[in-house]
Amino acid sequence: MSILALEFMQRALLAAVVTGLAAPAVGTYLVQRRQALMGDGIGHVAVTGVAIGLLTQTSPVLAAVVVAIIASVVVEIVRERGTSGDVALALMFYGGIAGGLLLTGLAGQGANTLNRYLFGSIVTVDDNDLWIVVGLATAVVALSVGLAPRLFAITQDPDFARVAGVNVRAYNMLVSVLAAVTVTVAMRTVGLLLVSALMVVPVATVQQVTRTFRATLLAAMVVGTVASVSGLMVSAYVDVQPGATIVLIALAGFALAWPVGMWSRSRLRRRQPFGHETDAFELDDTHHVVPEDHGHLHGPDCGHLAVRHGDHVDYVHDGHRHAPHGSHYDEH
Ligand SMILES: [Zn+2]
Ligand SMILES: [Zn+2]
Ligand SMILES: [Zn+2]
Ligand SMILES: [Zn+2]
Repeated sequence: MSILALEFMQRALLAAVVTGLAAPAVGTYLVQRRQALMGDGIGHVAVTGVAIGLLTQTSPVLAAVVVAIIASVVVEIVRERGTSGDVALALMFYGGIAGGLLLTGLAGQGANTLNRYLFGSIVTVDDNDLWIVVGLATAVVALSVGLAPRLFAITQDPDFARVAGVNVRAYNMLVSVLAAVTVTVAMRTVGLLLVSALMVVPVATVQQVTRTFRATLLAAMVVGTVASVSGLMVSAYVDVQPGATIVLIALAGFALAWPVGMWSRSRLRRRQPFGHETDAFELDDTHHVVPEDHGHLHGPDCGHLAVRHGDHVDYVHDGHRHAPHGSHYDEH
């Protein structure tokens, strides 16, 4: 009998696919914001949520979602106030783990119960867990991909987005909340301690070869799904822990992509020593040209987000912010 005919394996596979899609989707924004460790911080706090769920004999997964969302909002507020994000993160790590251990003990549960959430236990996913995981992951993917142009404009340059009338605060909050939800989704598959890896490693891998934000987002989702499905399959045949296998496969992907990235970056530098073919004397780094095939000329009514920039207007779409300049566009 094929291993895929087993019902628990089908559930595990579906959970692996949705986690593989959702984690790198949110991770792309976190990496862009230089918050690669945010997922890990939320993961530690979610341990306290799991323990609250055990203590109150409600759903550990739902309790973790609530606690993780509260924590992510608090961190976002702390970050806004200018306190070092580093310190905020450290407080989350220690408080989350200590609170989780204490409450689990009070609930009369041993480290074994907690282990299921710390390291994931994808093959014990039941129907109830599965629908929570699939529902939340679908929402995360839909929002991360659907709002990509706007979210990208904000992560890349919050000041310009603010000037353009975008509610930067609300969108920043949204990214943090999406990260919190993703952590709890990934809890049952890769586990809380490794979730950050699945949010960051696929993004770092594809960044070696992709040039635009949209390509990074979509390719990272593909890489994440391949890693989590193949990690699950390997662990089904060899007796190893699925969560750890998924993360190690993702890291192997990075190890393969890194030399390719090095090579293509150095080739690009050799080809375009001044970064711009037509105005070789303009060495300021605001003048980058990306040849691009537009179906239209950008203008006031073209439907793209327009941002005032000094003496001209930039248009934001598909991970570019650029302005028409003669026969080409300058990336700004
Ligand atoms: Zn346009
Ligand atoms: Zn500009
Ligand atoms: Zn354009
Ligand atoms: Zn130019």
